[in-house]
Amino acid sequence: MPRASGAAARLERIGPARSRAERPENKRRYTVTSWLEVLARVEALEGIQLDAGLVHRMERRMAEVAGTRVGDIHFYTPSFKSFRTSEIDGCGTSAWPAVSITGADCSLQCDHCKARILESMIPARSPEVLWSVVSQQIEAGARGLLLTGGSNLRNEVEYDPFYPVIRRIKDAFPGFRIAVHTALADEAVAGRMEDAGIDVAMLDVIGAQDTVTQVYHLRRSVDDFERSLEALAATRMKVVPHIVIGLHYGSLLGEWRALEMVVRHRPDALVLVVAMPFYAPEHRPFAVPESPAVGAFFLDAREALPDVPVLLGCARPAGRVKSEIDGYAVLAGLNGLAHPSDGMVELAVRLGRGVRVTSACCSMAVGEQVAALEGDGGALQLDVDQIIAQERERRRLVSRQGTLASIRVVSADGPA
Ligand code: SF4
Repeated sequence: MPRASGAAARLERIGPARSRAERPENKRRYTVTSWLEVLARVEALEGIQLDAGLVHRMERRMAEVAGTRVGDIHFYTPSFKSFRTSEIDGCGTSAWPAVSITGADCSLQCDHCKARILESMIPARSPEVLWSVVSQQIEAGARGLLLTGGSNLRNEVEYDPFYPVIRRIKDAFPGFRIAVHTALADEAVAGRMEDAGIDVAMLDVIGAQDTVTQVYHLRRSVDDFERSLEALAATRMKVVPHIVIGLHYGSLLGEWRALEMVVRHRPDALVLVVAMPFYAPEHRPFAVPESPAVGAFFLDAREALPDVPVLLGCARPAGRVKSEIDGYAVLAGLNGLAHPSDGMVELAVRLGRGVRVTSACCSMAVGEQVAALEGDGGALQLDVDQIIAQERERRRLVSRQGTLASIRVVSADGPA
C-alpha cells in the first residue's frame, strides 16, 4: 500500500484531533487577513526570512485545529523593564534557581552539551548542601527549584541519596515547587520521586536510535525513553517532556517519533527547544537546524496536542534564525515563548491571539511555565499596546543606525 511521505505520514500516525474544527469560535480566531500580509505589517520583522509556502500551510492548517490550548500565547521576556514589579524585580534567577547535584560533572558528555549546561547551575553535591542551598534560596525569595545533575553512563541521574532531603524540603515548605530533570527512570525510580514530593518531572525524549547511540553515547533503546515516560505518567507528578529539535547534529531525525511517544502518554505540557551547536566537538560538528523544518515540527506538535500547552523553551540558536524560529512558533500557535525576538508580541496580537507577557529571564521563565501548570503562576498581564510601542521605538532607534535590511518573505519562486 502506498504510504504518505514526510510530515503527512507522521501526522497520520499521530492522528491530530480535529473534531471541533468547525466550531465558529475557532474559525473566527484565525479569520484574519492573509498571514503573509500580517507579517508584512509588523515593522519589527523586517529582515527576517520566512518560507511563504510554510506560512500558507500554517494558516490553512491552523484554521482547522481546535482545542483548549489553541489560541493563547504567553511571552516571557526580560525586555520590558519598565513593567517590572517587586515580585519580578531584578530579572535574577533566584525565583527558580537551577541546581545540579553533580556540579558540572557528567559521565555521558553528549555531543551537543558536553556537560556545559551544568556549569552555570548552583552545585549541591550532597543532601546537606542541597538543604542549605534551598534554605538560602527561599530566604532570597525563590518560589521553586529546577533540580538536575549529570548522568551516569546509563543516562540516569543518581538522586537516591537526595530523596529524604527533598521530602524534608517539601514538608517544611509545601508551597515550594520542585521540578526535576529525571533522565531515564523506571517505575521504582518514578515512585521514589513521587514519594519525595517532587512536583514536576521533566525528561528529554529522543525518538531516533542513531541519536541515542551517537549523540548521547548511550547503550539504551528508544523504547527506554518511552518506558520512562510511561512510568512517570503513572505517578501524581506533573510530566513535562522536552523534545530537542535538531538533536541529531542539527538534522531532524527522531522528533516525530518522540512526538508520537509524548502524545501516547498525555503530558501536562510539552517543551520544545532547538539544538544549540556551540558545544559540539570539532570532529562532530552540529549544523544550525533549518528554521522551516523547525517550524513544520512546531505545527505538527500543535496539531498533535491541541489540549496540552506546547511551549518553546529558552534554548535555541541566536541571531536571525532565532527570529525565524520565533516567528514560526507564533504562527504555529505555541502557547509559551521565552525571550521572544522583537515583533513577536505584535505578530501574536495581529493574529488575534490571547496574549500575556511576563517579565522573566530564562530560568525563571521555565519556572513560571511550571507554575502555570497549576494556575497562572502569578504572571503579570501587561499593556500590549505599550509593549508594541516600546518595541517600535527600539526598532526606530536601530533603524536610524542603518542596520536594517528590507522585508523579505521568500517562496520557492523567489521573494514575494
Ligand atoms: S547527560 Fe545531560 S548534562 Fe550530561 S552531557 Fe548529556 S545533556 Fe549534558
